[in-house]
Amino acid sequence: MRQLKLWGLAVGAAALALVGAVLFNALRVPALPAATAKTPALPPGLDDAVRRLSAAIQIKTVSYAAANAGAASEFSALHRLIAESFPLIRGALKREVVNDYSLLYTWAGSDPSLPPVLLTAHMDVVPVEPGTEGQWTHPPYSGAIADGYVWGRGAIDMKHTLMATLEGVEGLLAQGFKPRRTVLLAFGHDEELGGEAGAKSIADLLEKRKVRALFSLDEGSAILEGVIPGATRPIAQIGLSEKGGLTLALRVKAKGGHSSMPPQQTAIGKISAAVVRLESHQMPATLDGPGGLGLRAVAPALPFASRLALANSWLFGPLLIPRLSASPVTNALIRTTTAPTIIQGGVKENVLASEAVAVVNFRLAPGDTLEQVRRHVEQVIADPDVTISDYRGPGAEATAVADSDGPGYALIAATLHDLAPDALVVPGLVITGTDSKHYGRVSTAAYRFAPLRLAAADLARIHGTNERIAITNYGELISFYMALVRTSAH
Ligand SMILES: [Zn+2]
Repeated sequence: MRQLKLWGLAVGAAALALVGAVLFNALRVPALPAATAKTPALPPGLDDAVRRLSAAIQIKTVSYAAANAGAASEFSALHRLIAESFPLIRGALKREVVNDYSLLYTWAGSDPSLPPVLLTAHMDVVPVEPGTEGQWTHPPYSGAIADGYVWGRGAIDMKHTLMATLEGVEGLLAQGFKPRRTVLLAFGHDEELGGEAGAKSIADLLEKRKVRALFSLDEGSAILEGVIPGATRPIAQIGLSEKGGLTLALRVKAKGGHSSMPPQQTAIGKISAAVVRLESHQMPATLDGPGGLGLRAVAPALPFASRLALANSWLFGPLLIPRLSASPVTNALIRTTTAPTIIQGGVKENVLASEAVAVVNFRLAPGDTLEQVRRHVEQVIADPDVTISDYRGPGAEATAVADSDGPGYALIAATLHDLAPDALVVPGLVITGTDSKHYGRVSTAAYRFAPLRLAAADLARIHGTNERIAITNYGELISFYMALVRTSAH
């Protein structure tokens, strides 16, 4: 009896200690006060800068296929616009054309022993989906300046960073700024096709020159306003890594024949079963990668219950993961995703299919390897009749994860704190591809972020209809790149 009482006391004390620890962890993550609206400091001459952005949007540097081989005149027009728009850059920076259409600018610093800073953007845009042109408030290549916005393809992805970086450097030159650290500006021309011709060639060239940058900054994430449910602050998420990709073809061959005498399982039945098994046995989720790190970092801007759970992910992980997995957005942040995208088989209603094929696309979270995904697929399908092969290429590993404690991150975060004190700056994972996957060879500190303000409704504008950027936000971008170059290169 006495023994039992002691046990009871011990369990009670342990439970109390646990509750104490959970509350302590939650309270250690202080709630942020609601965001205070801030009038952004707009750079002088913004009207002219906006007209130059508009002119860049009017040039149809559209990525269709084959490294943009047919788009020579469009890219030369953009090169000409850049040369004419920024006379001080023309005089002070070395300009190189890489692989016909990409551009590399070098602003030599006075101390060549310092590792340079690499700022990147891409000059190409995705096509406008045929038939949707009429749905645009202003025509997609008009570059219309109206209602406080600049409208058109490339306004979000991503002629803003291309032009704002150049505006920032031109502005610094006008002030007589002389960098100590070399500043490299790299503008690829086929990011929307994978960057194999543009960014990859620039990275090859820089690698050959043994350039190791202090950090690189490319597109990827943004300042999210009202995108994360419950968040009381805009969230400025700096991408530390981007996911990899692998597409596999699953194939079943069968005898075929008349449908009046089917076997117990047909080719279509087998391929369907394989797809169902893959969907119901997902790759394991983790909160330890950059996606989970980002979710935990958002906690201070979330209501108490979410803060409590995220601050104690060591305890609530098993409860949190199913909840996060239920939403496609958060699911993509915590695991390698499995997406069957094509299924084919059969030609006639009364003929058994002699072959059935399924194509499954995986997006690899950092920490998972191509080898692990292939092994997982074999083990889950576990059917010798299903052959598994690569679909168009061997896939790409997730990129290395840049350091969220490194000097590049600190410089970007400090610049953001000054520019947008209302935003909570957090690290994160980019779930789509960017040119940065090529620049990893030039810098292990490859960050993916632009201070573009995106509301939930804007997400559909990315690669979609009515792409636009607020003029005030474009002013913030110019101020951001100008300040970032000044503080990192001084
Ligand atoms: Zn882009």
